Amino acid sequence: MKAIRLIKSCSLLEAREIAIPPIGECDVLIQITAAGICHSDAHYRAGVSPVEPLPLTLGHEVAGTVDRVGANVKGFTAGDRVCVHYLVTCGQCVSCRAGTEQFCPAVEMIGKHRDGGYAEFIVVPERNVFHLPDEIPFEQGAILMCSSATSLHALNKARLRSGETVAIFGVGGLGISALQLAGHLGAAEVFAVDINPRKLELAERFGAIPVDASAGNPVAKIQELTRGRGVDVALELVGLPVTMRQAVQSLAILGRAALVGLTQETFEIAPYSELLKREAEIIGVSDHLASEIPLLLDLARTAKLDLSRDIIRTVPLEAGAVNRALDRLEEFSDDLRIVITP
Ligand SMILES: [Zn+2]
Ligand SMILES: [Zn+2]
Repeated sequence: MKAIRLIKSCSLLEAREIAIPPIGECDVLIQITAAGICHSDAHYRAGVSPVEPLPLTLGHEVAGTVDRVGANVKGFTAGDRVCVHYLVTCGQCVSCRAGTEQFCPAVEMIGKHRDGGYAEFIVVPERNVFHLPDEIPFEQGAILMCSSATSLHALNKARLRSGETVAIFGVGGLGISALQLAGHLGAAEVFAVDINPRKLELAERFGAIPVDASAGNPVAKIQELTRGRGVDVALELVGLPVTMRQAVQSLAILGRAALVGLTQETFEIAPYSELLKREAEIIGVSDHLASEIPLLLDLARTAKLDLSRDIIRTVPLEAGAVNRALDRLEEFSDDLRIVITP
């Protein structure tokens, strides 16, 4: 089968012919119909975040059709439409049993620690496979499994309650899901902060209040729009020290800032005025949980989470097209989500 692989760190991905992987008794072989290209994949290609073992097929946002199942697989048969939870875990350790499987000592992320979705086929354990309802196109099913799932996890970690206000820093693939999910969870007002006019306009179409960070300090704007109160929840989805600090500075008394964007850099806070005095909280967010996926699939199935409008661009399963897509993610271009459709 054809696969687009990272052969060596800090170099372009390359197309390779590799064998279709064998399936174990509890595994499902999926013919891939859609594989999302994620900003983290650009980090993996650039060597910011180590990928091993190399060479490896990238891609952790996968949807497709079941081709074959192992002898012990009960829940799926050939032809089923499915999407994949990207963390393969042991299912038995303390973290797995507690439902916080991203901390499983044996965790393997598809497209980072084992072969991923930039290919024609993938093998994953049955526990990682979810039925994709007919109403959800494959491309949307793929991106649900990363950007939407991580956004929901961030809102859950930030303990968003109905009637609260939310500021979302970064209207990319995650942001566009996050602002809709915040609305679904009952947020009274959602502020969307970005510097890209197209993304701000899109956020406004989804009911958020746009805050143009290129026109002035977004913290001052949020304070003005909330009559000096600040927001109850801020999500940082960009991964820059400046926006992390702004997220914390935007908080109201007892506010919670959930940090999702990846960076190796540090950021400053003024402990007394920005944190202690308000009993504000900074919360780290890592991946998401399998238990959060059924709600997401249901919201997408009933169009309460709308990923159809101007959100997804597709590219073929070709090394040149995939590398260009990753370049554009590194440049923070207009693209919200790019999906490979082989
Ligand atoms: Zn992703
Ligand atoms: Zn485990």
